[in-house]
Amino acid sequence: MEQGEITREREWTILRDQLRDNERIWSGFRHIEVRMIGSHSLVDLVGVITEGIPETFSGIDCVTIACVDPEYEMTRLIDAGVESGLKPRCFTAIPREKLNELFTRPWRPRLGPADEHVHSLLFADDPCASGSVALAPLVRRGELIGSLNQGSRDPKHFLSGIATDLLEHLAAVAALCIDNAVNHERLKLDGLTDPLTGVSNRRFFERRLAEEIERWTRQTGPLVCMLADVDFFKQVNDRYGHQVGDRVLRQIASILGQDLRGSDVLARYGGEEFVLLLPGTTCNQGMAIAERLRSSIEHSAFVIPEGVDLDVTVSIGLACLEAGAEAYGADPAARLFQQVDAALYEAKQTGRNRVVQAPPR
Ligand code: GH3
Ligand code: MG
Ligand code: MG
Repeated sequence: MEQGEITREREWTILRDQLRDNERIWSGFRHIEVRMIGSHSLVDLVGVITEGIPETFSGIDCVTIACVDPEYEMTRLIDAGVESGLKPRCFTAIPREKLNELFTRPWRPRLGPADEHVHSLLFADDPCASGSVALAPLVRRGELIGSLNQGSRDPKHFLSGIATDLLEHLAAVAALCIDNAVNHERLKLDGLTDPLTGVSNRRFFERRLAEEIERWTRQTGPLVCMLADVDFFKQVNDRYGHQVGDRVLRQIASILGQDLRGSDVLARYGGEEFVLLLPGTTCNQGMAIAERLRSSIEHSAFVIPEGVDLDVTVSIGLACLEAGAEAYGADPAARLFQQVDAALYEAKQTGRNRVVQAPPR
């Protein structure tokens, strides 16, 4: 064979090998994609992504997911999954500011060596990502929701500048599936009870508020509504972790629910906010109850596993309906809640660990 023919033959071989490689990569991606779409829970999905990708592609030593998860909704589901076999540390709840620092618009994957910050933030310093990493932004409805992180021990595995179309595609499907799975889990839990504390949820409260207002317009008695918000709760999570935060929330729910009558409602309104609805209670009685609850929380022992007794307090906003339905306009429920919210805001502004009553109309 002549020299030219040999070169051509070699080029063909390289091209054929490349095509085969590409085909293998494509088929690997398709396989992962089908499994992601077919997964039936968030835990299952995270398993497919973080365990399926390293199994399918050589040179990838670990994969993790980091998502913004301010109420630790996903974290709780993943924790339960870890107890039943999911790899630990495959998922991190990442603060929004830290996620925003990782990517700049237009959001594109980042490939290259892992600096110390990325290595510890996204891979918990695991040596599996010590060579190089590929971070793909997870974007849903135009919003950055997380990051899909692949790590390799090989410094040359993820080089900046290599094509990332497939990775971008995979991240788009992953973001869609994550969003879907979270919504699905929410739907499953969206009964009338808050799964963390066991008290009623916001939906139940809103239903009962409408009923109680309806009753009140028939002048069957006064009505008190109060909103309690834990003071500086973010610090509890930041210092001791969300599991300790969760325990504090359960204990607060139990203190708030101690002396309720059958017609009273206690509900978890949102993250660290609880609402109480007390029919047949006057403003003065309501203020006395609120003050007792505030003081009871201030003086309760919140002992965490390290043996520390946390100082936990709540601020409470209160409003009451006594007489004169018309003066509250077309939507008395909304009006009452606005007043409660404004009173809580004032309690926060004026020093916390306080009860503030909305001014009489
Ligand atoms: P403030 O006194 O002004 O109310 O300060 P704060 O720190 O309590 O308020 P902020 O709204 O800044 O923080 C509320 C925190 O509550 C942040 C969020 O991560 C946390 N949180 C919300 N839901 C949950 C939950 O279900 N479990 C845990 N552990 N934390 C939660
Ligand atoms: Mg709050
Ligand atoms: Mg708070």
